Amino acid sequence: MLDESTIVAIATANGIGSISIVRVSGKDALPIALKISKKDSLTPRLATLSTLYSHDDKPIDEALLIYFKAPFSFTGEDIVEFQCHGGVAIANIILDEVIHYGARLANPGEYSKRAFLNGKIDLSKAEAISKIIEARSEDAVKLLAKQLKGELSNFVEDIRKDLLFMLAYTEVSIDYAEEDLPEDIFEKIEYKLGNIKEKLSNTLDASKRREGMIEGFKIAIIGKPNVGKSSLLNRLLNFDRAIISDIAGTTRDTIEESVKIGTHIIKIVDTAGIRDETTDVIEKIGIEKSINAINEADIVISLFDNSKVCDKEDEKILSLLEETTDKTIIKVLNKSDLDNVFDKSKLDDNFISLSTKESIKLLILKLETILDKNTHADEMTLISKRQVDSVEQTLYHINESTTPLHTGELEFFAHHITEALHNISNITRPFDNDEMLDVMFGEFCLGK
Ligand code: GDP
Ligand code: ZN
Repeated sequence: MLDESTIVAIATANGIGSISIVRVSGKDALPIALKISKKDSLTPRLATLSTLYSHDDKPIDEALLIYFKAPFSFTGEDIVEFQCHGGVAIANIILDEVIHYGARLANPGEYSKRAFLNGKIDLSKAEAISKIIEARSEDAVKLLAKQLKGELSNFVEDIRKDLLFMLAYTEVSIDYAEEDLPEDIFEKIEYKLGNIKEKLSNTLDASKRREGMIEGFKIAIIGKPNVGKSSLLNRLLNFDRAIISDIAGTTRDTIEESVKIGTHIIKIVDTAGIRDETTDVIEKIGIEKSINAINEADIVISLFDNSKVCDKEDEKILSLLEETTDKTIIKVLNKSDLDNVFDKSKLDDNFISLSTKESIKLLILKLETILDKNTHADEMTLISKRQVDSVEQTLYHINESTTPLHTGELEFFAHHITEALHNISNITRPFDNDEMLDVMFGEFCLGK
C-alpha cells in the first residue's frame, strides 16, 4: 500500500554552496508550493522565479521553483523543487514552512523507495543511485552510470524472460496434454539453460575481480615483524599514520587507510607480523589478522628482509602465499640498501627490490597496471552483495535443475526454475506469479 503523505527534504549537501534544493514530493506538493510562493499556479517543468513567504507573511528568500507533474517526476508523484540560495539556514526555514503546511520530513532513501513503488526505477537502479552519490573514483562512477542506464536491468530481464517461458512450457506439459508442445522443446530448454549459466558465471567472475571498484580495492601488506610494513604503508600514504619502531611486533592491530593510485581508490591494510609458535597473546591475534587480511584483500604485498636470512617465519609466509591462488601477489625484497643476506631463489623471478632510500615508483606502477587490468573491461559488474547473492542463488538452482530435466521429473525441474526466477528477479523487482499466468495464457490460450 502506498504511503499518501507528502514528504520533504533538503536534497543538496549539508554545507555552504551557491544554491540549496528543497524537494517536496506527494499530492500536496503543489498546493504547499503555491501557498509559500503566493502564486496561483506553476507550469510543469518551467523554472519560475518567486519570492517565498513564511506562514506569518515574512519574506524568506528569492528562489526558483520547478514543478514536476505526476507521473513525470523522479518519484512518479507531484514534485516541487525550491532552488534557494545556498546555506543551511535558508533551506531549513523553507523546510520548516513546508512541514508547517502539512508535509513530513522524508526518511532516508524514501524518494527512491517511492520511485520504485511507482514503477519509475527498479531495485538495481535504486542501488546504483545510492552508490553513485558515495562513489569516490571515476571508474566507479562510470560503472554505476551503466547500471543506472539499465545495463543490469536488461540483463536480468533477458534471463527472466527465458526462465519464464521454460516454466510456462513445463507447467503446461505437467498439467495438460503434451501433444501441443513443440517436439524438441526440452533440448531447446537445455541449450538456453547452458547459455544462462555461462552469462551468470561470467558476471560473477568479473564482479569479484572488480569488487573493489566501488569501495576501493583492498591491498594487504604482510610480512614478519620489523620487515618494513609500516614504513611502506606510510610511504604509500605519504604521511605518518602507523607507528614505526625498531622493536619487533609493535604494530599490534591492523591499520587501514585509503589512497588514490592512478584513477583507482585503494585501501591499504598494514597487518601485524606473521609469527610462528608465539606465546604472546596479542601477537597471536596479529597472525590471525594477517591471514584474514590476505583473505579479504584483492592484492597482497608480501615483504621480505634483504638483510636477514630467509627463516622459518618467511617460509611460513611463502607457504601461505603458495596456498593463495586467487589473489594478485607482489613479492617485495625490502631493505635492499642493506647487506644481501636473503636467499633470492626463494622468491619468484619478478619480485621487486625496494629500500626506503629509493623511489617506490616501480611498485606504484605495478599496482596501477594490476588495478587497470582488474577494472578496464566491458563485462557487466554487480555492485552489491545483494546482487551477488541473488546471482549465486540463481546459478545454484539452474545447476540443480539439470538432473530432473534429464530424468523427466518435471515437477522438480519446475521447482528449481521457479526458484531461479525468484532469485534473479529480486535484483530488479520481485517476481509476481501473475506474470507467469499471463505468459501461459497468452502463449497457449488455455481455456480460451
Ligand atoms: P614492520 O614491523 O614490518 O611494520 O616494520 P617497520 O616499518 O616498523 O620498520 C622496521 C625498521 O626497519 C624501522 O627502523 C625502519 O626504519 C626500518 N626500515 C624499513 N624499511 C627499510 C629499508 O628499506 N632500509 C633500511 N635500511 N631500513 C628500513
Ligand atoms: Zn609495523
